[in-house]
Amino acid sequence: MKEQTLTLHSIPVDALTGSISVPIYQTSTFVQQAAGIHKGFDYSRSNNPTRKALEDCIAQLENGSNGYAFASGLAAIDAVVKLLETGDEIIAVDDIYGGAFRLFTHVYQKFGISVKYVDSTNSANIANAVTPATKLIWIESPTNPTLKVSDIAAIAQIAKAHNIVLCVDNTFASPAAQKPINLGADIVVHSATKYISGHSDLIAGLVVTATPQLGDKIKFIQNASGAILAPFDSWLVIRGIETLSLRIRQHAENAQKIAEYMLEEKLVKNVYYPGLPSHHNHEIAKKQQKYFGGVIAFDLAIDDKQLASAIVSGTKLFKLAESLGGVKSLCCLPCEMTHKSIPAEKRYSSGVTDSLIRLSVGLEDADDLIEDLKQAFATALQQKNAVENTVVTAN
Ligand SMILES: *Cc1c(COP(=O)(O)O)cnc(C)c1O
Repeated sequence: MKEQTLTLHSIPVDALTGSISVPIYQTSTFVQQAAGIHKGFDYSRSNNPTRKALEDCIAQLENGSNGYAFASGLAAIDAVVKLLETGDEIIAVDDIYGGAFRLFTHVYQKFGISVKYVDSTNSANIANAVTPATKLIWIESPTNPTLKVSDIAAIAQIAKAHNIVLCVDNTFASPAAQKPINLGADIVVHSATKYISGHSDLIAGLVVTATPQLGDKIKFIQNASGAILAPFDSWLVIRGIETLSLRIRQHAENAQKIAEYMLEEKLVKNVYYPGLPSHHNHEIAKKQQKYFGGVIAFDLAIDDKQLASAIVSGTKLFKLAESLGGVKSLCCLPCEMTHKSIPAEKRYSSGVTDSLIRLSVGLEDADDLIEDLKQAFATALQQKNAVENTVVTAN
């Protein structure tokens, strides 16, 4: 079955009423026929029919055995880390999502779980970092914001050889573009806040496991810790998923056009987009991704934070905001926003300069988006020149 058909038909028709839209079971508890005898639902933290429809759907889309829905992407990540015990080690991608870095380093390190960060675009770096205590390998591909791509199948082989769980944060690709479990990953997590829900209207997280054994462990943690997704938000995520593969196709088509325009733009220095043949990891991205995604990053020929700041304030269609993956285009300046808490040296070494701008390319017409960027570049440059001329005159 093709992706879009699979997507629509992995969402069930309600068995009780025939409702084609999944009903929102807005309830805390379920009446039992006799003590302990019920229809599979006893309390909504443990199980809820609306959430279950979403969980079964994402498990199918990621080609896993079990799916679980959480109150945020970070709650989903937290559930996976809770598989570990004191003394265990994590090997993680070095330009990991900031929130995951904060959770690993500032919450779990104090419980005796240590983390090594390596550049996972070279799989040998992962193999070299493995010790007998390594229990979890954590990668994102593509990463945020410079879109580094790691070879998931090669890393899965290393993980399997050492009996280590491989978890892939698939937020930037989505299952419409990349299926890590097919490449050998044990667990996939999502910030469903981004592409999966797709409309910038909620916060949610998902975990999918490759096996029922791992699934049962995540289920236990989900119920024990309680960071579940509410029925209404589960319904909204399902509604978003119905158009996921269509959206991803269009996000990628728009992003490719914009990335190609960026290559021609004089004010732009580096363009980061896995769909460009000049991208460092283009070949591996081509091998493991069906689409290259909707996020582009670029920095300026003049590495000037003020100029970059004027550009992100000067776009009209690209709205200046954190987050990504919604139908409307967003832009941000990572050094002042998403990556502000990362020390400057560490930031620079991962390519996040003061003029690096990240675009989440939405579903507007690509030509309109390009016009918007052109006018923002021109206006910002004029402002900069005007300021410099004033300074010269004042002297
Ligand atoms: C946003 C994001 C998260 C965190 O998800 P929340 O829903 O904000 O908790 C995790 N990983 C990646 C790659 C993200 O972009």
